[in-house]
Amino acid sequence: MKRFLIHIFAMTLLASCTKGFTSAEREIIYGGEKEIMRVLSIANKQDSLTLRSTSKPLKRDMVSQDEFSTLCRRMLTTVQNPENEGVGIAAPQVGILRRLVAVQRFDKEGKPFEFFINPEIVAKDDTLVAGGEGCLSVPEIYDDVERSQRITLRYYDSSFTPHEEVIEGFTAVIFQHEIDHLDGKLFIDYLK
Ligand SMILES: [Zn+2]
Repeated sequence: MKRFLIHIFAMTLLASCTKGFTSAEREIIYGGEKEIMRVLSIANKQDSLTLRSTSKPLKRDMVSQDEFSTLCRRMLTTVQNPENEGVGIAAPQVGILRRLVAVQRFDKEGKPFEFFINPEIVAKDDTLVAGGEGCLSVPEIYDDVERSQRITLRYYDSSFTPHEEVIEGFTAVIFQHEIDHLDGKLFIDYLK
C-alpha cells in the first residue's frame, strides 16, 4: 500500500511538472465561436485586472503542444483583424498570462509577424525618441511615448532554441511595448 501511494505521489508530481497549460487557459485557447480571440480592454474592470498581472514563462514541453500552436495561430488572426489591426500582440491581451508575444518585423523584408517565447530585453540604448503609440487593449488613446531605438533581445523560438538579437528602429519600439504587457505595464503609464 505504501509503495502504491508513493507511486501515485510520484505520478502526480510528474504530471504537475509537465502538464503545461491549465484547464482555464485551454478554455480560452479553444473557446469562442470565431478564430479571432476576444481582446481584453482596460475599459472592462475584470479585463483590466488581467492586463495588470505579471505573466508566467512558458516551459519547454508547452511549446510542442497543440495548445501552443493553436494559441499562436489565433493570436496572429486576432492581431491581423482588419477591423482592429495591430503591429504586435501579447498573450495577456487575449487572457493568457504567459510570456509570449507576436511582433511585426518592420526590419525584415515582407514585414512578417514572428512569435517570441519568454522574451527579455537585456540591453537598450539610453537615447530615447518619442513616437506615436496605441494599443488594442486601450481604446481611443493614441499618444507619444519615448522609447529606446535599439535593444538587445533574448528569447526562445518555437523549438525552444535560445537566441540573442539586436533590434533597431520601430520594431524595437514594438518589442518594448509588447514585453511591457508581460509585466502588466501599458503605454499609458508613460504619458505625462
Ligand atoms: Zn498593447
